[in-house]
Amino acid sequence: MSILVKGGVVVNSHTRRQLDVRLDGEKIVELGADLAVKDSEVVDASGCFILPGFIDAHTHLELNNGYADTSDNFTTGSVAAVAKGTTTVIDMATPDRGKSLADCLATWNALAENKASCDYNYHMSIIEWTPAIAKEIPEMVKAGVTSFKMYLAYDNLRTTDAELYEAMKAIKSVNGMLGVHCENGEIINQLQKDYLAAGKTGPENHPLTRPNALEAEAVNRYLTIANTVGLAVNIVHLSTKESLAVVKRARAHGQKVYVETCPQYLTLTDDLYRLPDFEGAKYVCSPPLRSQADQEALWQGVIAGDVNTISTDHCDFDFAAKEKFGKADFTKIPGGLPGVETRPAIVYTTGVATGKISIERFVALLSENIAKQFALYPQKGVIQLNSDADIVVWDPEAQDVISQQTQLQHCDYSAYEGFQTTGKAKFVFLRGKKVAEDGKVIAPRTGRFVFRKVNQEA
Ligand SMILES: [Zn+2]
Repeated sequence: MSILVKGGVVVNSHTRRQLDVRLDGEKIVELGADLAVKDSEVVDASGCFILPGFIDAHTHLELNNGYADTSDNFTTGSVAAVAKGTTTVIDMATPDRGKSLADCLATWNALAENKASCDYNYHMSIIEWTPAIAKEIPEMVKAGVTSFKMYLAYDNLRTTDAELYEAMKAIKSVNGMLGVHCENGEIINQLQKDYLAAGKTGPENHPLTRPNALEAEAVNRYLTIANTVGLAVNIVHLSTKESLAVVKRARAHGQKVYVETCPQYLTLTDDLYRLPDFEGAKYVCSPPLRSQADQEALWQGVIAGDVNTISTDHCDFDFAAKEKFGKADFTKIPGGLPGVETRPAIVYTTGVATGKISIERFVALLSENIAKQFALYPQKGVIQLNSDADIVVWDPEAQDVISQQTQLQHCDYSAYEGFQTTGKAKFVFLRGKKVAEDGKVIAPRTGRFVFRKVNQEA
């Protein structure tokens, strides 16, 4: 039976119109003013926005970092996502050293298949460059995984500049998309050694050993190499004003650069690392939270369009795990924050409700731009005929308070405890099926792998 979402205001990245939306099967089949009910089931969207399902292009839903497991897995993380309006995630698939990308893809499929409550795809991580891995790049594209992730930080993940250069050439040859974690890992290692040698072991030292300049240097190096290859590239979790300046300079010279930031860099600051009783460890993520000045620069970037997308870098380790591994040595604190659940309400509250950005821009940042960049568009990221019926009926007035007590993310803390939010997903549809209502998932495990082509405009 078809469904008629009636009485709401349909918002895409450049339009907002009072329209009813009819869903049938997995697709949007009719859009129009005051559509006749016919034999459709009616969903009342009056007073609400009708938004394309949100896409989170940066999650680590289920991960072992070498010594600790995330508190979420695909089952729980995807429930937390879809309950609050995120209908698709692009998770970071990370192979073990010496193993093939095909092995990694099989592992991630096994993690997600028949468990995910939202749709999903992956960015395939490249942590070393060998002839065998070079051969696998086109294979990944054939399998529908058309974006890749590399690291300039973390000893177990980072490659050399030469490896990055070679990988970029291979990715360019298949029109793939690359995202890189930009921090200068070698210098961070040295700073960490110096701090530990001086007896500085607490979480307040985490941001001091990962200063802004080491991100900006890595961004500059990455963009320089990409420019040599002629590859359009993505910068994941950009967090500093200096990095944004580097991006603007590269763009002024004609380079195509996509920029992602995350809610934590728009809302939290580095003074949290100095909380007493090891509480600062809750906020250990990399790049670290930054200063108020960085936050203001990022918001300016969001408003001006210099920042293209907002995803979460969801990677939650329990506070108990952070204490267990990192109490005596801040460099051992498992890094990452929970966030896949709270992104829509936090960005709506701090961005749209404050008047910083329009609801249209909100849709672009959390859905349409991501769909376009990662070749999910127009299947996803837009409310239009024949698109997947991934729809969020968003109540702009609903008030809520974020708390660990009520969150669906399986984490023993929230980075936003007590934060008051405005705006909430009232109903969430995934490919035509109502999967969540008032923050609760009513049809779990509806998610499936979404095959992606390549972004021809990159
Ligand atoms: Zn990440």
